[in-house]
Amino acid sequence: MPRLPRYTPSGRTTALFFVMAIVVAALAALVAWPYQRLVTWVPFIYINAVVYLVFAFVVAVCAMAAIKIGRNRNRMLGAIVGAVIGASAIGASHWFAYRHAIAEVTAELPAGAEDSPEVQAAMDEALTFGTYVRARVDTGWSLGRSGSSGKGDLTGLFVWLIWGIEALGVIGAAAYVGSQVEPFCEACGTWMKEREVWVRTDLDAASASALAHVVSADELLRPPVARDAPSRVKVAYTTYVCPTCASPGYVTLEKRWDEAMGDGRPSAAPIKYETKKETLLEVVELSRAQLAQLDAARGQAEAQPPPST
Ligand SMILES: [Zn+2]
Repeated sequence: MPRLPRYTPSGRTTALFFVMAIVVAALAALVAWPYQRLVTWVPFIYINAVVYLVFAFVVAVCAMAAIKIGRNRNRMLGAIVGAVIGASAIGASHWFAYRHAIAEVTAELPAGAEDSPEVQAAMDEALTFGTYVRARVDTGWSLGRSGSSGKGDLTGLFVWLIWGIEALGVIGAAAYVGSQVEPFCEACGTWMKEREVWVRTDLDAASASALAHVVSADELLRPPVARDAPSRVKVAYTTYVCPTCASPGYVTLEKRWDEAMGDGRPSAAPIKYETKKETLLEVVELSRAQLAQLDAARGQAEAQPPPST
């Protein structure tokens, strides 16, 4: 079955992207400092989980900034750079934890001793990063009150497991964000402008779903319209258009509908709805004339009186 042409990234990148990769990797490492301080300081695991999610999100935003500013259109390269940015953040987080452990040991020393170069040298030799990691794995974390031995409930393999999950989440999220490429105008060397131009409510569920299988721009632009009843589905059109030249643009179609939450059993409580979304078509190419037709169809639909209930 023939398919409508879709946006395919050129695979090109810029020298600026490599500069941005280094700058952003350093930035992500800095973000690891407040993250590490917070998870060490806060004793509640749920709050730590939220702090972790915020950290992963900020690192992913850093990766996205590198892609956008560096104008990278190479998915593979973007994923690798994203993973490096994530690894930089995770590595820095462990490094800050190590430096903090050294600072705590130093604080225990008699006054003035930490200024002595001999003491410094002895400490550096005794407390290497490797020693710190082994000690951390042995001590682990406590759930609730810790025992008199100072040893937690989660030690050894658990520590490696939690560190592994922590690392995979941050690196995976940054790599995923890095691999995302939105439409870019190769003629002008600029990102296309993304805009949700229309959320139409004049299609019934069947013709909305059928949009996922259209094979011509004509079918895409003129789906059969249901005029008699208000529809329960919406179809959102998001366009990508070059801000400076007249090269073809792209459109993404998303179906949205409300679904009742809960298990379906009758209940006295008011029914809650959640909005579901499904992408019907993704970055399908449309000429400027076809984009203008879409705009005209929107104008026409909005001029129609709303369907009566
Ligand atoms: Zn252009």
